[in-house]
Amino acid sequence: MPPPTLRNKLTSIKGVRLAGSPSTWNIDIHYPPDSPRGIIQSVTPHNDTTPGDDSIPAPLVLPALTHPHIHLDKAFVHSARQYAHLLPSTGSFQEALSFTTEAKQQFTVPDVLQRGEWLLAESISNGVTAMRAFVEVDHTVKHVCLEAATRLQNQWKDACEIQIVCFAQDPIFSTQYGEENMDLMQKALEEYPQIDVIGTTPYVETTIEAAKRNIDWAVDCALQLDKHLDFHLDYNLDSGKEALVWYVLHSLEQRGWTSSATTKRVMLGHCTRHTLFTDDEWCRISRIIHENDLPVSFVGLPTSDLYMAASPEQKVPHDRPRGTLRIPEMIRKHDLDAVMGVNNVGNAFTPWGPPDPLFLACLGVGIYQAGTQDDARLLYECVSTRARAAIGLSSSPSSIDLKKGQSPDLLLFHHRDLTGCGVARPCGTVAEVVWDPPATVNRNVVIGGRLKSSGFSCSQSESIYHFSGE
Ligand SMILES: [Zn+2]
Repeated sequence: MPPPTLRNKLTSIKGVRLAGSPSTWNIDIHYPPDSPRGIIQSVTPHNDTTPGDDSIPAPLVLPALTHPHIHLDKAFVHSARQYAHLLPSTGSFQEALSFTTEAKQQFTVPDVLQRGEWLLAESISNGVTAMRAFVEVDHTVKHVCLEAATRLQNQWKDACEIQIVCFAQDPIFSTQYGEENMDLMQKALEEYPQIDVIGTTPYVETTIEAAKRNIDWAVDCALQLDKHLDFHLDYNLDSGKEALVWYVLHSLEQRGWTSSATTKRVMLGHCTRHTLFTDDEWCRISRIIHENDLPVSFVGLPTSDLYMAASPEQKVPHDRPRGTLRIPEMIRKHDLDAVMGVNNVGNAFTPWGPPDPLFLACLGVGIYQAGTQDDARLLYECVSTRARAAIGLSSSPSSIDLKKGQSPDLLLFHHRDLTGCGVARPCGTVAEVVWDPPATVNRNVVIGGRLKSSGFSCSQSESIYHFSGE
């Protein structure tokens, strides 16, 4: 499958709605000489008086979406025939681990390329223009996933900015394979300059000492090689287990990893154990991060957490509490940087859910009881502008308001009738988009100023999209 064809450069998008405004606007895009990507030159009121079809509301334009945390190599294992014998039979975490290890033994570069393309094609048509993609490096897959990811990164670069995580899902300081896994990680970092991020999983080490060595090694290595750092951390709901977040913050502080010393950032993912923290403990985390100027973000992975992160104690048979980071509270109450990610799709760890960040924002309304207009805006930011900034792809503020100077990575929501009944319910506010995400055929994506349409015609296209003559 080839990457999508992008239309010519857009010079303007006319008569569209923006977040928080009932009136319509024009967005002009300028292209610096010899640059394939444009920048927003101006956002001005739309005063066109030519008669149009007033029965169809103007499309809403928001910033494009971002995957801050997605496993490219394990995506859609359930959709590939060669793994049909590995579909869940019990659905337990142990089964997911062993079936995934078995599947990984069969991974080949063409196979990862194919499943990766499914992920990219669907994500981009949902409106994703940037992603942090995890690919595993260990004794089972060696550099197979990494090789495939670097090819996809290059082939799809016009449509999506893929940030590659060289990821140790397996132990690197314990078990009989620790040494070999570490060796493969180090070789990967030497041989693949395309790697942007170092990722590890301290909780898979067999002892707490090995987990701490894992953390220290990853921090040192990322600092030395000038890469971003990303931990899968504290993935349990067991108050008897030491939370390793304290050790990570201590390690960063000791080594002087500050926002002013480097542009590289640190992400902590899952962290379900932190849902058992008291308010005081959350305040302490926030204080340590702010006082030491640590560029730390958290990513909540609710589709995986809801499926897998259950409490170990089951006193009552039907009492199965789930735990997932409470992202809006972390942002508003504790002034932390927090975003939401899809994590896994179509595999034993997360068999449900689409690779659509908007679906996550929608899920957030229910999980966090976040039903106000402000909540919707914040949830959209968490899968869009905040997610992009958290993975270090933009330093700009997290607002979804479009402004001069920003990159024209945009998502337009159209109103094509999908019912076959000749009626289409309007969907013109951020809240409406988050509460009930529009189908992919109603989303057009603009990437660096170039249009990727949904492939379905739209009567408004001619009046809205204006292309350069090239
Ligand atoms: Zn993950």
